[in-house]
Amino acid sequence: MTASLGEFDLIARYFTRPVRRAALGVGDDCALLPAPAAGEQLAVSSDMLVEGRHFLPDVDPEALGHKALAVNLSDLAAMGAQPLAFTLALALPQADALWLEPFARGLFALADAHAIELVGGDTTRGPRNLCLTVLGTVPQGQALRRSGARPGDDLWVSGTVGDARLALGHRLGEWSLHATAQPAAFARMDRPTPRVALGLALRGVAHAAIDVSDGLLADLGHVLEQSQVGVTVAVDACPASPALLQQPAARRRLCQLAGGDDYELLFTAPPTARNAVLAAAARADTAVTRIGQIDAQPGLRLIDAQGQAVDNVYAGFDHFRPDPTV
Ligand code: ADP
Ligand code: MG
Repeated sequence: MTASLGEFDLIARYFTRPVRRAALGVGDDCALLPAPAAGEQLAVSSDMLVEGRHFLPDVDPEALGHKALAVNLSDLAAMGAQPLAFTLALALPQADALWLEPFARGLFALADAHAIELVGGDTTRGPRNLCLTVLGTVPQGQALRRSGARPGDDLWVSGTVGDARLALGHRLGEWSLHATAQPAAFARMDRPTPRVALGLALRGVAHAAIDVSDGLLADLGHVLEQSQVGVTVAVDACPASPALLQQPAARRRLCQLAGGDDYELLFTAPPTARNAVLAAAARADTAVTRIGQIDAQPGLRLIDAQGQAVDNVYAGFDHFRPDPTV
């Protein structure tokens, strides 16, 4: 047994590190950060992870530390923002070193990989709940907004989509994955990669972007709504991992189109920018695939490899609606 930690010992031991860019970090009533340079805007986003809702009680705390920051960095990526710093509001049932130590390790490993610092937060006893706020910067007018898609734009997606849902289905007993397919799928669900470098490289190239957290089509719907456009998606062009390619077509499509938690970037760019998109992807060392086209006609149309219409039964995840039936 470890001696029980007080709130301030806990903060000092696990969440206090030397400041980097911040003028003042953890320990005072507020953190102090330099204001963005002239011509830059501050990008701010929060994401909350609730036990039982976003993660299971027995999840590996190190992976959870990674994921809590990754999903927040993904929002900065989708905006084309450069990550700067973050805060962590934490509710914990107890100050358990066996949980806190690996959690902090996973959190700071990803923070270090992006050279960002934890500048403050809050710690309280309660049902396990993590709320992070990330801060980033973006040159004025260059943020990749959801509202920027234009008719004629290509629709692109990064990496592969559907693996997190594939892993979740296995964990929930909806289907069973071969043992050799499990590590890669679970890595996508438990340790997502925020596409920060790609978001930065797409500044000035992409018209609109969003990260895929609730399902590709559901998130695409937000772009359509805010841009007041429609889309045709070539469902079989959506990039899939080797494990997903081995699944029956209906399951593969469900995972790719309705599955969330992939944290890939979905973005649009004019056809004249195809080479620029590919160059940006190469700079970011991230694969991108063209999966459709933005139309002036409102609505979401799906077609298969033969150009035949596919029914859209792929509603995404919504916390206040029943889960979609498989
Ligand atoms: P206050 O009462 O002024 O809100 P607290 O006593 O809650 O301050 O927190 C003390 C300091 O520790 C503050 O600088 C706060 O930002 C920081 N802090 C609290 N919890 C965390 C945490 N989980 N991670 C990082 N910093 C934290
Ligand atoms: Mg406080």
